[in-house]
Amino acid sequence: MRRSVSWTRRLTLATLLVAGACSPAPLETPGIDFGEEPPPITAGVAAPMGWYGDAVDVLDYALEVRLPEPGGTRIEGRARLTLAPGPAAEAVLDFTGLAIREVRVDGREAQASYADGILRIALDRAASSGPTLVEVVYEGTPDDGLILRENVHGRPSAFVDNWPNRARFWFPSVDHPHDKATASLTVHAPESWVVVANGRPLGEPVTGAAGTRTWRWRTDVAVSAYNLVFGAAEMSVVPVGLAACGRAPASPRADGCVEVSAWLFAEDTAQASLSFGRAADMVDFYSEAIGPYPFEKLAHVQSATRFGGMENASAIFYAERRLASGSSMEGTVAHETAHQWFGAAVTERDWTELWLSEGFATYFGYLYFESRDGVDDFRRRLEESRRSYLESAVTGSPIVARYDNLFDQLNPNNYAKGAWVLHMLRGIMGDDAFFGGVRDYYASHAGTAVTSADFAADMANAAGEDLDWFFAQWLHEPGYPVLDVEHGWDAAAGEVAVTVRQVQDPSWPTFRLPMELEIVDGEAGTQRYLIELTERSQVFHVAAPGPARSVRVDPDGWLLKRLAREAPPRGLAERFSQTRYAGARLFERRLTW
Ligand SMILES: [Zn+2]
Repeated sequence: MRRSVSWTRRLTLATLLVAGACSPAPLETPGIDFGEEPPPITAGVAAPMGWYGDAVDVLDYALEVRLPEPGGTRIEGRARLTLAPGPAAEAVLDFTGLAIREVRVDGREAQASYADGILRIALDRAASSGPTLVEVVYEGTPDDGLILRENVHGRPSAFVDNWPNRARFWFPSVDHPHDKATASLTVHAPESWVVVANGRPLGEPVTGAAGTRTWRWRTDVAVSAYNLVFGAAEMSVVPVGLAACGRAPASPRADGCVEVSAWLFAEDTAQASLSFGRAADMVDFYSEAIGPYPFEKLAHVQSATRFGGMENASAIFYAERRLASGSSMEGTVAHETAHQWFGAAVTERDWTELWLSEGFATYFGYLYFESRDGVDDFRRRLEESRRSYLESAVTGSPIVARYDNLFDQLNPNNYAKGAWVLHMLRGIMGDDAFFGGVRDYYASHAGTAVTSADFAADMANAAGEDLDWFFAQWLHEPGYPVLDVEHGWDAAAGEVAVTVRQVQDPSWPTFRLPMELEIVDGEAGTQRYLIELTERSQVFHVAAPGPARSVRVDPDGWLLKRLAREAPPRGLAERFSQTRYAGARLFERRLTW
């Protein structure tokens, strides 16, 4: 079939250069690795994965935790949950491993059952048409979620690490990202410790009896349970800078700026400049590119998280050993900072939609470096991302997919391919429409939980055209295009004929791919044309004065693809098999619960 070259649509391709021939330096891959050997999980109670609870909507968590003396593991806890009015006759909450001392509803002792990781509390909804206050008093040694252990330097510490659904190990909760709530945290800690948590501090810490100090924090911006944290240890608090001045509506400061700080163990304070030197600039960049900074402050915290970095709302936790090693974590810092907008403020409604958090944090992390360090740096990160995806074990699954083990969601589909989905969309829409659409999406959904359909609708609106085909093939179908390109010269017609075949796995879709075709010939120089692939094999004819010297498709690298003649990337397969192995071990442990 003969296809003429279309000039009716333009791609905005001016901002990117062709990938350089220099060999790339190794880059960090933030978030996807587990940072360090995960500690063993020893929980003995079944905890259903992805449990939703039953139609209770938590509006606010007021949590109080008394930490043990240094070296101890037993905590005392009190959780006050404010539930929205509703018809549910009982509150079904995720909670496991700790002994319950008392359950009250609106101040009165309440009937409750507690088994198999579920706490059911009878509600008397007829008594009041307003919100219901549920109070649970408990104690014990958390099996997970709240990590009480010696830090990397051998001193005691207490850090929360909830992702994905480990909040249930230290407070009763709707332990699923769809339910967001404001929160207060009161922590009684050893006197020499500092305590950081979500939101803003409520006054100065108060010294109590028996060598303790009490710290109170509060966030009035609703967060998901996995983002609700505190960290407590002997730490140095290093101011990093002020950011997003005038674009931080939740900041308690009179000047409208958000405070950015680093909370580090005394041995590692050099990291304040090494890894966090540009942390305030990152907040400035994102607040201009996406929308106002959503939270009260931003603390970067050296911690016991099992992840390289964990994007807890306004209190990002980093792997303590990574920071103690003295290597820069700046790539991770950019990724986690972008998560404050995508993941923490606009949250995936279900785990299957994790790309809305990880794909966005990955791509916007790259965009920070494109803005500050130039397009070559950006392109190196994109290329490493592409190779990591091509070599991964998940190319046969779509991005939006359900896994029995939630840790398996931490895969290159949600990170690398998710980032490429945004890059491809930017290539199709052009910068103005793309970033305008992202800003609209953020402004409409900050503080809520969303699905891919919400994002797709906002982007189609910004593009002024239907994009269902784009999201269907890239989010809900597996694989990627593998393109075989050949060209010949038809002297009689005075045309170059370019044949493009999609030779990917037959079970993968035939992709619809708008792209540029570049033809270099001896006389006219370099010409570019817009083409659109819609079939497994297509021939494009271009009038030319002579044979082409070279032909390239997608010369600026806007598409996630592999060329058939391209040698498969090597060297990254091992790393991802290690990542999957880490997830598999966690799963095996979970099976023993
Ligand atoms: Zn991430």
